Amino acid sequence: MNLVFLGPPGAGKGTQAAVVSQALRIPHISTGDMFRKAMREGTPTGLKARAFIEQGKLVPDSVTIEMVRERLSEDDCKNGYLLDGFPRNLLQAEALAEFSQLDAAVNIAVADEKLIARLSGRRFCPKCSGTFHITKLADEKICPNCGAELVQRADDNPATIANRLSVYHAETSPLTAFYAQKGLLKEVDGDLPMEVVTAEIGKALAVEL
Ligand code: AMP
Repeated sequence: MNLVFLGPPGAGKGTQAAVVSQALRIPHISTGDMFRKAMREGTPTGLKARAFIEQGKLVPDSVTIEMVRERLSEDDCKNGYLLDGFPRNLLQAEALAEFSQLDAAVNIAVADEKLIARLSGRRFCPKCSGTFHITKLADEKICPNCGAELVQRADDNPATIANRLSVYHAETSPLTAFYAQKGLLKEVDGDLPMEVVTAEIGKALAVEL
């Protein structure tokens, strides 16, 4: 199954994508994770992406589209994939349609007021890529999955969060209409408890999760 997860930053795309990709045995491809890894390793892509990410802007399409095109050509994507954080604008969606055929685009919707609280309390594990909210952690500094030290993403600060939300509304939210027109859109309420959102995604895709 070739899937795209849409939704604003903080909607729970990454968390849900991890569960769904494991259940369906397809790779979870997060462009945000790919960029953060590239930045940590100091690769040419990481160097190009850093300034944009730190300001909450989109990394240029030429860089992003090429990175995804290469990733989807790898062997593990032959039986499907789950894209999380791509496409983020119409140009990326049109490029994706040229090199791959989607089965569904799942939109996880959450209101802005909720997103700000979610993003500012979010912690990230650089080792296993897990994402957690401080209200759910026994120890704010330790990853409950792998024991590594948790960090706050540099772009989860109030100024950058505001930019990311406005970029989302201006550039990414029109993608729901794009995919609705193609008959691929599945809408899910992301404001429900995590397990309920997973169950809703399962129903929308008609798969066992
Ligand atoms: P995310 O982890 O999905 O919230 O992404 C973090 C940041 O990476 C975004 O704010 C963008 O700066 C950059 N990024 C991730 N995916 C894309 C994309 N598809 N197009 C452009 N920039 C992206």
